[in-house]
Amino acid sequence: MAKALLDRLSELKKEKKAVILAHNYQIGEVQDAADYVGDSFELSKIAADTKAEVIVFCGVHFMAESAKILAPEKTVILPENMAGCPLADMALPEKVREKKEEFPDAAVACYINTSAAVKAECDVCVTSANAVKIIDSYPAKEFLFVPDQNLAHFISTNVDKKIIPWEGYCITHHRVTREEVKRARKAIPDTVLMVHPECKPEVVEQADEVLGTGGMLKYAKESQDSKFIIGTELGLIYRLKKESPEKDFYLLSADMICPNMKLTNLQKVINSLESMTPEIEIPEDIRVKAKVCLDRMLEYS
Ligand code: SF4
Repeated sequence: MAKALLDRLSELKKEKKAVILAHNYQIGEVQDAADYVGDSFELSKIAADTKAEVIVFCGVHFMAESAKILAPEKTVILPENMAGCPLADMALPEKVREKKEEFPDAAVACYINTSAAVKAECDVCVTSANAVKIIDSYPAKEFLFVPDQNLAHFISTNVDKKIIPWEGYCITHHRVTREEVKRARKAIPDTVLMVHPECKPEVVEQADEVLGTGGMLKYAKESQDSKFIIGTELGLIYRLKKESPEKDFYLLSADMICPNMKLTNLQKVINSLESMTPEIEIPEDIRVKAKVCLDRMLEYS
């Protein structure tokens, strides 16, 4: 069955001149079928550079939008139309405009986990992998940071600039508590604890390493250590085990599952390529403004 699906996918990819991009949080069969698996930053760079005519983005809506912003001449499809990001939904463009009036001297930085319409309101975009570097080097002393309060806090502890946080959070990372860290450390001693900066400060403070997903993969591969507790979404464990099979990985909390990232499967990828839907479309005026924000991220990182 899986072979039949993979054969069909291969035919469709050739026929449509398509490339399959999958985020690190996707389920195993989607990661295995993808041409590229990566974090938001890696995938946005691939989207910007690909020669393919069609980009199938296995992730959530804002990621496929970022691909479309950077590669407007390509057809971008998101196999599962319902795959949204609750964190991205916590910032609306009209609310960002209101806040900008409240803080007229602040530059506006947004996490890549925002809609195209929100990016269009912001000066510069960041991902968890490059946020500290970009905010540090961007020529402003004060930033309104949209929409993740925990990443905003993490940035503020690593740069000598004023960060005004938005009140948003990722439901998957924000729910983890200090007590869960204590329990995990006790249950699995002598391990390296890596957590994502979308976790609460009380969790981040106890981590050995605070990294985005790409950073965790690199660290685990290069480290002399062999046991890791992973404080990010479950899907990354699949890739960590695949890339470092001799090492052991434990999820920090059994609740670290993003339901939106689990909506896509191989059959849906095939269906979307057959029908070429759902296609991502962005009004051109918004796309052009949002591209300035994403281009600055590529420039400063
Ligand atoms: Fe959004 Fe969090 Fe899910 Fe990522 S893990 S898509 S930030 S809700």
